[in-house]
Order: sequence, then structure tokens, then C-alpha cells
Amino acid sequence: MSTGSYPRARFAVSPLVAGVATSKTVAIFSQTSEMKSRGEAVNAALCVGQPDFPPPPAVVEATAEAAAKGLTTYTALLGTLELRRAICEYLVRAKGTPYAEDEVMVSGGGKQAIYEAMVALCQPGDEVVIPAPYYTSYPDIVGLAGATSVIMPTHPSDDYVPTVAELERALNERTRILILCNPCNPTGAVIPRERLEQIAQLLRRPDLAHILVLSDEIYEAITYGVPHVSFAALDGMKERTLTINGFSKAYSMTGYRLGYLAAPVPIIKAASRLQAQISSCASSISQHAGVAALTRTPDDLIAGHVAALCAKRDLALELLRQIPNVSCPTPEGAFYLLPDISAYFGRKTAAGELIGSAEAACIHLLHEYKVALVPGEAFGAPATVRLSYAATHDEIRDAITKLGACLSALRLP
Ligand code: PMP
Repeated sequence: MSTGSYPRARFAVSPLVAGVATSKTVAIFSQTSEMKSRGEAVNAALCVGQPDFPPPPAVVEATAEAAAKGLTTYTALLGTLELRRAICEYLVRAKGTPYAEDEVMVSGGGKQAIYEAMVALCQPGDEVVIPAPYYTSYPDIVGLAGATSVIMPTHPSDDYVPTVAELERALNERTRILILCNPCNPTGAVIPRERLEQIAQLLRRPDLAHILVLSDEIYEAITYGVPHVSFAALDGMKERTLTINGFSKAYSMTGYRLGYLAAPVPIIKAASRLQAQISSCASSISQHAGVAALTRTPDDLIAGHVAALCAKRDLALELLRQIPNVSCPTPEGAFYLLPDISAYFGRKTAAGELIGSAEAACIHLLHEYKVALVPGEAFGAPATVRLSYAATHDEIRDAITKLGACLSALRLP
């Protein structure tokens, strides 16, 4: 029988999923890969949130060892005891936060832990306060959890650190979770201890005592001469904090898909119920490699990577500041810069095309100068573009020089 005689499959995508925003970055990413497949040389090195160093040798060894030793089966839902022990030891040593093994859930990346925690805790009508510029996934994850994102601004004049006054305005009886991304993707901002203490003080107010903090600390190991303070380390805050961390950034293990949530037991139990039905557990091989990352990586290896990233930040900032009317605070962590290019909006290209947004500027930069950057619209920061400087000095020089040439060639209409 010919397939033509069967009825066509008819389906509608769930409105929850249809609401997930992909459009903000898709144009740049799909056009970049189209150009590459045509054989055009595109500098896309400053586009991705991926460290530019390999995983530590002990991690690579442990990966092969895990497969050879037959560590290839499902593990406990929360993760192997060995890895959770290593995580607890790390958290007390590096962050001063004493977590027990049942207060840690290992997941397939920090992102999965954020999703599971959010879905486990939120219901329709709940608000989740997200300081902007934000990690692009937060509002979509909040939407998938059925809750409502409340976007709260931060400003380059405050180095993009959230202020207590603005937080006070955003938090109310409907707020379920406040997200703090510290250090922040995409701004690189590190929230100083004093500001964290002020935020904790605000949350101690009886009318705000119902609010939990999701502290995304996935970049905590990457700061430049300033200490990173965990929100859970503050007085009374461990009970109200969901700490997100992982192996993607400090150990460059993005493809291992390994992260974790550290939180009070009832939250771990709720999130892990969801994990049980999503993935059963994180990859056994990755978990074995994660133990090596935490216990067998020499401190000076990470320190060397951080120092190299700091030199790249300085180079990128120096080049950016040579572009007239472009401004960018000096971030103290992660590996991103978020320069404001909005002084150029409203100008025209040589072909007469109006550049009215960061996205339009990025598309023009890609087509005419073969450099891919992510437009700030993706992060709730439409005046900006995001650069990841985890790239070679040559790639940084090339991309920023061309950004400068591209902007300077724009003309007032
Ligand atoms: N949080 C932030 C702020 C991130 O930038 C990322 C990765 N880009 C993640 C979470 C998720 O990381 P992963 O799932 O690789 O652990």
C-alpha cells in the first residue's frame, strides 16, 4: 500500500513549548553556519560560552578509565556517593558552605538542575525575579515551569550589580524565587560581599521571608583578583538558597553535561523526583571524570587558565575602548564583555540600510565583516552585544578591530 493512502500526521506543539524563545539568536547562528558551509571564513570564536582550554589531564584519564572499568551503568538518582562527597568537600573548602551528601543532586549540566528546581518549586501565578542582563535561558525555563518572569534592571553605571532599591521594588508576596547569577553571564559582574549581605538583609524582612534564592555560581572559579562569595555562606541563607554549580566552565567540561544543585533536602527531593523521570541520573562516565576534576586537578592549573583569561579580558577591553562612543564596564569574573553600542543605532550602512538595533548591527557585522557576535536582545540588554573572550588573542584582535571598523563606517542618515 502506498504511504499516500494513510492520513497525514496532525499535531499542534504545546503552547508552553511554542512560547520558548529561539528567535533572538537563531538568525545569527543559522546565518553563521550557512556562511561557513559555503566555505566563507567567519570569526565566530567570540560567539560561544565555551572555555578555550582543554579539560584537565586527570579528567581525560578518568574518562577512559571509567569506560574500561565498566562504570557504564545507571548510578544513584542523586549521583554517585563518591562524586557527591567530592562536591561536599569542595563546597566546604572553597566556599565555606557545609552541605551533606543528601543536600546535593548531580544532574546533566547546571542547566538541567536549574530547570528541575524551577519546575519543582513554581506554579502558575508565581513570579521569578531575574536581574537583566540575564543568562538567556532563565526566562524560558521560568515559562516552562508555568511561572512568570519579572525582569529587574541593572545598570552599567553600577557595574551591572543589582541594587537593593531595585530589588525591593521587584520583590513582593507573589515572588517565589530570586535568581542571582554570580559571576554573571553575560555581564561578567561579580556581586561583592557587602551587596550580598544587603540582599540577605532585605530577604530577612518578614514580608519577604517566603522568597528563595537560586544562586547560579557556575562561573565562581573564574574571578579576577576579587573573592567570590556564595549566597548560601551568608548568615541564615543556606536554608533559602539553591546553589547551582557545575563542571562546564572551570574544568572546560561542557560536553560532559555535568552540574549540580546544592539545597535543603526537601528541595533536593522535589527536584530529583523530576530528574527520575527525565534522565534517571547524570552520565556515569562523566560523574567519574567529575571526581577527578574536583580531587585531582592541581590548583595552579585552574589559576593559570584564570590568569590567561584575565589577560584576554584586558586586551579585549583595551581594544573596545578605542572604538568611539562604545562603553563597557570592567567585569571581574566569567569570560564575557557586554559593550553598549547603542550610540550607533539610527545610522546607515554604505548600502543605505538602517541599523536600528543590536541584532541589525550583528547581522551587518556578520555579512560584511565576517564576525559573529551575539546581539544583546538575547540577554534582555538591547543596547549591547556580547563578546566571549575565551578565544585566542588573534581572534579577539580580529573581531574587535572589525567591530570598530563596522561601527565607524556607519553614517548618520
Ligand atoms: N548558567 C549560566 C549562567 C551559564 O552561562 C551556563 C552555560 N552557558 C549554564 C548555567 C549551564 O551550564 P551547563 O549546563 O553546561 O552546566
